[in-house]
Amino acid sequence: MTQVLKVAVPAPLAGALDYLPPRGAPDIPAGVRVRVPLGRRAVVGVVVGRGPAAVVPDRLRPVRAVLDERPVLDGGLLDLVAFAAGYYHAPLGEVLALALPAPLRKGAPAQPRRPLLWRLTAAGRAAPAAALARAPRQRGLLERLRAGPVAAAALSAEDRRAAAALAARGWAEAAPAPVAPPDPGVHRPALTPAQGAAVAAVRAAADRFAVHLLEGVTGSGKTEVYLRLAEEAVARGGQVLVLVPEIALTPQTLRRFRARFGGRVVAYHSGLAEGERLAAWAALREGEAAVALGTRSAVWLPLPRLALVVVDEEHDPSYKQQEGPRYHARDLAVWRARRQGCPVVLGSATPALETLHNARRGRFRHLRLAERAGEAVLPRLELVDLRREPQAQGIARRVLAAAEAELAAGRQVLFFLNRRGYAPTLLCTACGWIAGCDRCSVRLTVHGAGAVLRCHHCGARRRPPPACPACGGALLGVGRGTERVEALLRARFEGVPLTRIDRDRARRRGALERLLAEVAAGGPRIVVGTQLLAKGHHFPDLTLVGVLNADQGLFGADFRGPERAAQLIVQVAGRAGRGRLPGRVLIQTHAPEHPLLQRLVREGYAAFAAAALAERAAARLPPFAHLALLRVEAVDAAAAEGFAAAAAKAAAGLGEGVEVLGPAPAPIERRAGRHRWQVLLRAARRSALQRLLARWAVRLEGLPGARRVRWGLDVDPLEM
Ligand code: ADP
Ligand code: ZN
Ligand code: ZN
Repeated sequence: MTQVLKVAVPAPLAGALDYLPPRGAPDIPAGVRVRVPLGRRAVVGVVVGRGPAAVVPDRLRPVRAVLDERPVLDGGLLDLVAFAAGYYHAPLGEVLALALPAPLRKGAPAQPRRPLLWRLTAAGRAAPAAALARAPRQRGLLERLRAGPVAAAALSAEDRRAAAALAARGWAEAAPAPVAPPDPGVHRPALTPAQGAAVAAVRAAADRFAVHLLEGVTGSGKTEVYLRLAEEAVARGGQVLVLVPEIALTPQTLRRFRARFGGRVVAYHSGLAEGERLAAWAALREGEAAVALGTRSAVWLPLPRLALVVVDEEHDPSYKQQEGPRYHARDLAVWRARRQGCPVVLGSATPALETLHNARRGRFRHLRLAERAGEAVLPRLELVDLRREPQAQGIARRVLAAAEAELAAGRQVLFFLNRRGYAPTLLCTACGWIAGCDRCSVRLTVHGAGAVLRCHHCGARRRPPPACPACGGALLGVGRGTERVEALLRARFEGVPLTRIDRDRARRRGALERLLAEVAAGGPRIVVGTQLLAKGHHFPDLTLVGVLNADQGLFGADFRGPERAAQLIVQVAGRAGRGRLPGRVLIQTHAPEHPLLQRLVREGYAAFAAAALAERAAARLPPFAHLALLRVEAVDAAAAEGFAAAAAKAAAGLGEGVEVLGPAPAPIERRAGRHRWQVLLRAARRSALQRLLARWAVRLEGLPGARRVRWGLDVDPLEM
C-alpha cells in the first residue's frame, strides 16, 4: 500500500487530499505547510496526517515544496480545526484558513519576529566624530543612533544600506525590540468579597478543565476578576486567551490589559493589517506574548501554553460567524479549554439562555457578582406605557421631562433606539405604496431627512421618487430611526450639545472610539444611539437612559428576539449611574403587561431568563432542542426552492429523532437579487442531529441542482 500525505487544501472539500511525499522527505509532520498541485494551480496546503492512499496510486501527484521546518499548527490547533470542520460541517480547507493569518495562507515564512531595533555597539559609541567623513549617510545614521535606538522599519532603503555598512564595521547591530514592561504604578484595587470568592473558585481548579459562568451585573468588576486570574496564570508561565465582542475591543479595554501585561499582551482583530496579525500570531506561537486579547477570530491563535480562557460578554451574537464556516467562538473556546485541560471563564451581566441552562444543569459552575464595585448602584428600570402617555412624535412627555430635569442638573442623557436612519418606511398616504428594494424583499430606509433611500441588506441607494410611482400621491416617511430622533431632540433641546452614535457615524476606523471618548469626557450632554452604545463603556455623568422602542424584539418572528431585547435593555441600562450618581431607565412600550417585560423590570434579568427558558422548553426550542439550518440561495427562484425541497426529502429518511421542518422561504425571501430558501432540522439530542447531518451533507452534494444553487449548513444557528 502506498503511503501518502493527507493534505488539507483551500477548496470546498469535506476532507484532505492524498499526495506523494517529496523524494527523500517521507516524514513530514502534521501541521507543516506544503505547496501542492490542485488542478492546474499550485496551492498552499497543510499536512494533516499520513496513511494509505485512498485513490489509485498512479493518479497521485507529489508535493512540490515543503514550506516549514516546524509545524505552523500544533496538535491542539489541528484537533480544533478537525473538530470545527466536523461539527459545523464546513470544508476542512476553509476552517484551516481561519487558523492561518493571510500571509501564511499565501506561503510567507512563519517566523517574523519582534520588530528589530538598530543600536550602536560599544565600538560604535567610541567611534570618533570625524570618522566616516567620506560616507555621509553612515555618518548621519551614526549620529542618529547616538541619540538612541531606531526601529528598523523606520529606516529608508538608503539608511538600511548604511546600517548594514555600520554593522560590517562592528559599530552598529540590530536586536529585537525589548518587550514593553507592565506599568509599575498600576492600581490593583482590593477585591470585593464577591470578586475574591470568584477568583478563589477559579484558582482552586486552575489546573483542570471547568467552565465558570461569571454572572456579574454591569460594572460589578468582572474585568478585574479576569485581570487577576490572567496575572496568576502568566506568573505560572501560562498563556491566556481573552475573547471580547467585536465592538468591545476598545483602546480602553486594551489599555487596562497593557497596564498589567505591558508588551506581553497582543491584540487581534479584523481591523489589523495582515502583517500586524502575523506578528501577533508569531509572538504567541513563540511564547514571547502571554495574553491574546481579541475578537472572534482570536479563538484560532496558537497558544502552546494555554492556561486560562476568558470569554467576556459571552452572550454577544458577534461571537457567531455569519459566513463561511459558521462557528461560534465561545463554544470553540470552551472546546479548546477542555482539550487543554484548563479553566474557562464566561462573563456576562446577561448570560445567554444556553449558558444559564448549562449552569442550572451543573455543567457550568455559577459565580455571581451581585453588586457594582466601588460606590455605584444599579439603575432603576421603569416602564412607560405609550398607549396612555401623551407623547411628542414617539417620545413620551414623561421621558422628555425627565431628560430636561437631568440636563438642568448638569447630567448626561442617553436615548437608545436600535434602528438607524431617518425613517424605516416611505409610504404613499393615498394608496399605501411602500418603497421597497429592487433586489431584496425588504423596505428601503429613509436617510438624510428624506434625501436618500437605502437598503440595509444589500447596500443599494437611490433617490426617493418625488411622488408615489403608483398613483402620484404624496409620500411620507413613517416611523423613527436615530437620525429623526436626533432632529427631534435638537429642536426640543435647542443649544444642548448632542451626538448620535450608530453604524452610519462609526464607519471609519477609529470613529467609534472617538465618539465614545467624547461622551465619556462629557462634551455631548444628549446621546442618541443604537446597540453600539450598549457595550461596557464607562460614562460617569450619565444618569438617565430612555429606551425608545422596547417592543421591536419582543414581537418579532425570531424566537431569540425577547432574549436579545432583554440583554440590550440591561446592557444599555448599565450605562447609567456608573459614577457616583444613581441612574434611572425609562422603557417605552406599547405592551407594558408583556409577562417577560414585567419580569425583567420588576425582578431583573435572572427572573426574566427563568421565564424565557420555561417558554423555550414548552416550545421545544434551544437549549431544549438542537437546531441546524440548511440555507439555499439562487438567482433563479425555482432552482432555490427545488433544491431545498429535494434536500428536505433527502433528510426525511436519514435518521431517527430528527424533525425536518420545511422547505420554507427564508424570513427575508430575496436578498441582493437571490431567492432564499431554508430547511430547518430539530432534534432533542445533539448526537442524533450530528449523525443525520454527516449523512445529509454527503447526499446534498450529489443532489440534482446542487451546482445551480449556493447552499450551506448552519449548525446552532443564531439567525434564522
Ligand atoms: P465589569 O467588567 O463587570 O463591567 P469592571 O471590572 O470594568 O466591571 O469594573 C467597573 C468599575 O469598577 C471600574 O472602574 C473598575 O476599575 C472598578 N472596580 C473594579 N473592581 C473594583 C474593586 N474591587 N474596588 C474598587 N473599584 C473596582
Ligand atoms: Zn400611491
Ligand atoms: Zn437590497
